[in-house]
Amino acid sequence: MYQFIKDADHYVLSVDNHESLMTALARFCEEQHILSAVIGGLGAICEATFRFLDPATKQYVDKTFSEQMEITNLTGNVSEKDGKPYLHVHITASRRDYTCVGGHLLDARISGACELVVDAYPKLAPGRRADAETGLNLYKF
Ligand code: FE
Repeated sequence: MYQFIKDADHYVLSVDNHESLMTALARFCEEQHILSAVIGGLGAICEATFRFLDPATKQYVDKTFSEQMEITNLTGNVSEKDGKPYLHVHITASRRDYTCVGGHLLDARISGACELVVDAYPKLAPGRRADAETGLNLYKF
């Protein structure tokens, strides 16, 4: 599903072709006991599903793009919710015509490669709790 190398709390992670990016990332964080980290990366995908929260209605609107795309940027963080790693990942992806789509990532299917860096901060444990006003899982320090 993935391979990695590490130096202290810094990881270089490669997610295998055809895998679910979020499933692999979640498994990696659980197996390495990571509850606090920043994530950066790039790669190629053939499907991505984004989630948009309409603040007026508090309704989620999900949209899936099924085409070959380059991940031009992946930015994310890991925190703790209910004792488990909680992933928050945004990506921008470029299409064949070089236009981009992007947003809050629900999941993506790797199509080629996915190269990530994960910098863990084991002395921090940023927690998240559900927030009624926004409908989001917000940091709660
Ligand atoms: Fe988000």
